[in-house]
Parts: sequence; C-alpha cells; structure tokens
Amino acid sequence: MPASSPITGTPPAAAEFDLELVRKYNVPGPRYTSYPTAPQFTEATPPEALVEAVRRDNREATRPLSLYFHLPFCETLCWFCGCTTVITLKRDAASIYLDHLEKELALVQPLVHPSRRVAQMHFGGGTPTFLPPAVIRRLGEAIHARFKFAEDSENSVEVDPRRITRDHVRAFRELGCNRASLGVQDTNPVVQQAVHRVQPMEVTRQAFDWMRTEGYRSISVDLIFGLPHQTADSFARTIDEVLTLQPDRLAVFSYAHVPWIKPSQRIFEKQANLPSTEEKLKMLATAVRRLTAAGMVYIGMDHSARADDELAVAQREGTLQRNFQGYSTHAGASIYGFGMSSISQTEDSYRQNLKELPDYYAALDAGRLPIERGLLLSEEDRIRRQVIMRIMCDRRVHYADLSQRLGVDFRTHFAREIELLADLEADGLLHRSREGFVITGVGALLIRIIAMRFDAYLEKGPRRFSRTV
Ligand code: SF4
Repeated sequence: MPASSPITGTPPAAAEFDLELVRKYNVPGPRYTSYPTAPQFTEATPPEALVEAVRRDNREATRPLSLYFHLPFCETLCWFCGCTTVITLKRDAASIYLDHLEKELALVQPLVHPSRRVAQMHFGGGTPTFLPPAVIRRLGEAIHARFKFAEDSENSVEVDPRRITRDHVRAFRELGCNRASLGVQDTNPVVQQAVHRVQPMEVTRQAFDWMRTEGYRSISVDLIFGLPHQTADSFARTIDEVLTLQPDRLAVFSYAHVPWIKPSQRIFEKQANLPSTEEKLKMLATAVRRLTAAGMVYIGMDHSARADDELAVAQREGTLQRNFQGYSTHAGASIYGFGMSSISQTEDSYRQNLKELPDYYAALDAGRLPIERGLLLSEEDRIRRQVIMRIMCDRRVHYADLSQRLGVDFRTHFAREIELLADLEADGLLHRSREGFVITGVGALLIRIIAMRFDAYLEKGPRRFSRTV
C-alpha cells in the first residue's frame, strides 16, 4: 500500500455477501453525512459565532462553494418519508417561500468573497417541482444575480416524477441543472398503495425521457427496501424494471423506521405489514447481486454508479467526498444551505436553519439569518472528520498518508481505536497491516460500523439512529 498509490475501494462481490454478519452488525448508527453528526449541533452555539465562522470561511477565495436549496413543499405525504416537508395544495406557498429565500440570499451574499465560484448546487426537498416553472425561473435569476458559477459546476435537482411537466424540466435546466435524481422507491402497485405513493412506471419513464432529451447528463434513481409488502422477489422485479431506464446512478436506501421523529410511519406498525429483518436482509443481498451483475460499481452507503460515472471515477482516484447530499466529487467545498432546516458547513463549523416554516419566515422578516443551532468544530473533531470521511469514501486507511494530511501520528493518536478493530477484523470486515487497514466487501456494506469506531461522541451518550439494514 504505497503512500502515493491511488486509494481505491473494494467493491463487495456477491459471493462475499454474508447474511449472518450483516445480521450481527445490524445496529443503529449514523449515516455520516457529517462529523460530528447532526444530533451534536446545539442551540447553545451563539449565532454570532456561526456568522463569524462564515466570515472566516471567506477570508480567501480558494475554497469552492456548494449551494443547497431546501424546497420543502409536497402535495401529499408518502408515509415512509423521513424528509423535512410541508404538505400543502396552496400554490401561492411557493412564491411566498421564494420571497424569503431571496431575503436569505441577500443576507448571506455580502459575507461571501466575491471571487468564490459555485462548483456544485443541489435542490432538495420536499418536492422541488412543487414550484411552478415561473417561480423556478425567478429563483434561478435570484441565485445567478448573487453567485458566480464555475463552468463545470454540477447542479442537481430531486425529482418526483408524479409532479413534473416538461416545462419544469426545462426551467431547472435553464437554471443550470445538469443532473437529477428521480424518486421511485418501488414499482410494485401493491407497495405503492401501501405507502401512499402511486406512481405508474409510464410516469417515471416519461420524466426520465424528458430529462435525457433536455440534456441532463447524469440521472439517478432512488429506491427503498424494507417497505410494506415488499419481498426479496418483488424487489428484484423493481430493480430489473428500473435498470431498463439505464440510470447512471442508483441509490438503494434501507427504509429508516423512525416513528419517534416521523409519526406518520406509525401507520405501518398498525397495519403490521413491514417485512421482517430476515426478508430485508434478503432484499439487500438481492440488490447487491442484481446491481453487480448489471455492471454497476458499489460506491458505498447505498449508492452504486456506472463504471464510467464521475462518482465511480472519483472513488478509483481517491478523490471521492461525502457531505449532506451524499457522495460528491468536489473536494474542500463549503456548503451554504438556504431554506428551512437546511444545513451549512464550513471548515470549522456546521449550522442549521430553523425547521418550522413560521419561525424561518419570522427570522428573515426581522432581517436575521434563520439559524436554529450549530457547532464549532474542535481540532479533534476536524481530525476525526477526515478519518471518518476517508473510511466512508475510500474504504481504506493508510496511516502514513493520513498522518501527513492531519499533522498527527495516526498510529499513536488512534492507537486505542486501531486496537479495538480486532473484532471487526476477526469477523472479516477489514484487514489490518502495519501500514493501515482495508475494508472488505462485506465490510463495505457495514461501513458505518467501522466509522463508528472513530466517532468520539458515541461514547458520550446514547442517541437514536436508524439501523444499518
Ligand atoms: S414526495 Fe418525497 S419529500 Fe414529499 S412526502 Fe414523498 S418522499 Fe417525502
């Protein structure tokens, strides 16, 4: 494992799939889209200190920007949904929301170094296409009036194929979007009825075709396993059907049952129609086998991509990143989030916006940034963040490499953690050597278990997370 060699992950081969091991390590844990994770953000962090962190982030123009816009509205609630949404049929909600996004942009822009360029932008939700095309175009004008974009910026939008017209597709394309992720979840009508999201395959195919015709470069499809009435066989049919669309990326998420956060999910408990853990594990195995057979490369944490997709290339070259939007190819970008509940990240801080719409509006109407909570990172947090992100992205850790990057002697600093990997090694999740450790195929499926061993906060008190599977 020479220090200069490109860091590449080991894709899990179907043959390596070990249901017993997955069952053993199927414990609740964070998804590590940030470290420290969001439960550590606190209202005790003074908003002025978080604004000061934005100023620090803009002393130089070297770091690229990644913009995130949270567009929370949905017409109806999908009962499995774990997102921060506002369910409404009132169309004027969109323009009122945009009025406030414009106020937020006007408060943030003066803090941003004028030479910084946007390398990445993402519209998430909710349902971004709840916004009528005219409002999307107005949003585009507001963003481009305040930020300069790199020529090759990656701009993506989450799409609900049930709520989109060709004009929506065009409006987001005009605004700069060149990628999209389509929510499908499951193509089986029985499952769709049970989760309150009826979406015929023709509707998905139509949205997909519009995206391709309008020049979206990369299209991803999101599926969920663990939903009511799903079986390994029915989920295999869903995967096969979705693969006929030839997506560039596929995200196969495990349904996160968190009724203490999302009470609508209790309906599944009442109906008692959720698949057993055993069946869920079979679905995971089915997904891994089907996608491997279709030539998709496993990126990590539910994500697969075609071998020629930028994510797969970035992983091969050791430049893959992980942030609130999942995996990304943009190293070192600061994330500036806009909209209710959105999260922003600088080198040494996280901050999250107010999560209730009236509070978000009231702060902006009063001329204040709508900050609810945040965290200033210690030096130790930043070191551990790098280690956890390299585990999540590269699936290997090279001690000399990381020692150089982090300015600490890795083997000394993490002597206890390295020692405590012994049980994971004995179970075949990773291999240790004097130079570092490499995560195996089955370890890749349980990657957050390995990352958790470097999380200093898990020892400080119990938190409630969803399970790995
Ligand atoms: S459309 Fe998406 S965000 Fe809205 S309720 Fe359904 S899953 Fe949640």
